[in-house]
Amino acid sequence: MLYSLRRSERAKNTRIIVKPGKIEVVAPLKVSERRIKAFVEAQQDWIRAAVKRIADKVQAVPDLAPAQYADGATVTFQGRQIPVQIKPTTTKTVRIQLHGDTAFIVYLPISVDQQQSSELIRQGMTRWMKQQARQHATTLIEKHAPRSGLFPRSLRIKTQKSRWGSCGPHNDINLNWLLMLAPPAALEYVVIHELCHIKHKNHSKDFWQLVAEHLPDYQQQRRWLKQHGASLMRGL
Ligand SMILES: [Zn+2]
Repeated sequence: MLYSLRRSERAKNTRIIVKPGKIEVVAPLKVSERRIKAFVEAQQDWIRAAVKRIADKVQAVPDLAPAQYADGATVTFQGRQIPVQIKPTTTKTVRIQLHGDTAFIVYLPISVDQQQSSELIRQGMTRWMKQQARQHATTLIEKHAPRSGLFPRSLRIKTQKSRWGSCGPHNDINLNWLLMLAPPAALEYVVIHELCHIKHKNHSKDFWQLVAEHLPDYQQQRRWLKQHGASLMRGL
């Protein structure tokens, strides 16, 4: 069984960590390689079961990204599947335009060969989504901030694999642009959630009360993100 070994000063016992695509063994400094090998061997059944469990879990999460960014592929935006139409252009960079909510027009430089095109379109799409996230989030902040005086110091759009947003000690708000793949109400919920942290730096009853004042059905949005979040986090 293939595994990577990590020595740890703090580890008291040898332990096995199974992650998607990798098995890691963490061992105290003084345990011999021979003993580690024997330990891993003895745990083989457990490791196999854990590997399978994780593989099943990863497979159960549907991928939103198309296999290839090409004509006819669909890209998820605000909870909808929107087909991509490619138009050649003589300009140098990929440009994306959402056409009447029914198609993504991708202007693809004619100088780009087929091998590169999928990745370049993906990058162009990501840039476009980040701009959209900033615009939509700004509009939502303008809508909700005045109500309870919840004005953030700044807004940053980030790519994050494990969280939707955060609000720092000085009320700088970070938002994950992958929320643009979710229905608009989910983004609105996250914006409100972070705005409410300006007043309450915790998840107390008062905090949730304030969230509910801004978005009475926030629990539905929270549930939606719990259910579909892993798919979104896989990215475009
Ligand atoms: Zn929070």
